[in-house]
Amino acid sequence: MMKRLPGIHAPHLKNTDAKTAEILPVPKLVHIPMSMHIGAPARSVVTVGDIVKVGQLLGEPDGAVSSPVHSSVSGTVKSIDAIDAVTNERGTVIIIESDGLQTPLETLTPPDVNTAEDFIAAVRDSGVVGLGGAGFPTAVKLTVKDIAQVEYFIVNGAECEPYITSDTRTMIDDAELLWDGIRLVKKHLGVTNILIGIENNKPEAIRVLSDYAAKEPIAKVVSLPAMYPQGGEKVLIYNLTGRIVEEGKLPLDAGCIVINCTTLAAVARYIKTGMPLVEKRVTVDGSAVRTPKNVIAPIGTPLSDIFDFCGGLTDDVRKILYGGPMMGVAVLSVSAPVKKSTNAIIALNAKDAALPRETECIRCGRCIGGCPLGLMPAVLRDYFLLGRTDMLEKYKVNLCMECGCCSFNCPAKRSLTQTMKLAKARLRESQAAKNK
Ligand code: SF4
Ligand code: SF4
Repeated sequence: MMKRLPGIHAPHLKNTDAKTAEILPVPKLVHIPMSMHIGAPARSVVTVGDIVKVGQLLGEPDGAVSSPVHSSVSGTVKSIDAIDAVTNERGTVIIIESDGLQTPLETLTPPDVNTAEDFIAAVRDSGVVGLGGAGFPTAVKLTVKDIAQVEYFIVNGAECEPYITSDTRTMIDDAELLWDGIRLVKKHLGVTNILIGIENNKPEAIRVLSDYAAKEPIAKVVSLPAMYPQGGEKVLIYNLTGRIVEEGKLPLDAGCIVINCTTLAAVARYIKTGMPLVEKRVTVDGSAVRTPKNVIAPIGTPLSDIFDFCGGLTDDVRKILYGGPMMGVAVLSVSAPVKKSTNAIIALNAKDAALPRETECIRCGRCIGGCPLGLMPAVLRDYFLLGRTDMLEKYKVNLCMECGCCSFNCPAKRSLTQTMKLAKARLRESQAAKNK
């Protein structure tokens, strides 16, 4: 039996896994950042007062690692701001007042895709980026000089974070589109070994996709133990293939490409319809959400519209996260928008949001035993507090993927993950200073 990397058995809390996404009413206003991906922000191509339609280009890619951004509503460009007034983040944000009609741009047609180059160009034009949360431009990921390098093309359906079920619903409700995406990568990229990794707490998704695989065996569905962080790229690669992505290397160096299942379905939707990425399936859950749901929302929709659609928030709401409780990022305001990479918004009540009281380390080693990357969080924390960047470097804090397993496992409730983030930042600063 293949060895698997360690992880944790976090509560699944998949309250919405049986809920097909509901379509959100058209928001009055959308708030579309030009940077919703890794790489250079898109460059705005509209001006205030322009009338735009659904699918119209708002921002063109600005460099090799970038992605176009399209309008998710029809309406009028109300403002173009250099600083996001809601999140206070720097970067261009286009605010569009919707006319409520959702008129699609008339010139949108499915792209002609006959060659690998056509396929990559279509993926770029689709505006699709890693929709599982990473936001890396998908066209860049799929641009491979020598396809013979790709021994495993992996479709990530693990979705291991508590609460989140948006990928699960993609695999069930958009199974045909996802399978179209698998056919496309096989046909145009020529990959031969396609694995779909799904955790075994998603039996319906495994059944639906296994039915496709039985009729058309171009890809193999692999049921994986439901264990966090099964969906982490390096973890998934190891657990499916036994390959290790070495430090400083890419999955491709280990013969693998990993694409999230919703990302692949979005690529297939664009190639089928010509409509770029303008909406997102989002799980809305957490102890402060009155009616947890999956919803399909235009990109740029304020979170407040989505919470209202889910019955509102409870009075004791304390924390809102983009993403799940393990790796999610706190949101400053309910006016913040749904972005391309938003797969969940989780609202927690006072009890669930309360930070536990830290006690002394009892040297139990559970943080070390549970780290999927074999790091030593307790030791790294000591070195961070001592200011020993040399030891942070020696013990590879840079490899930490901030998964949260160490904090979850710690009986002393030490905020290890937060310390790892700070330690990584300190090491980066120290290395940058040295390089100067
Ligand atoms: S947060 Fe970092 S150190 Fe902690 S378990 Fe995850 S990878 Fe390991
Ligand atoms: S799990 Fe917590 S208590 Fe145990 S060694 Fe790690 S930091 Fe210390």
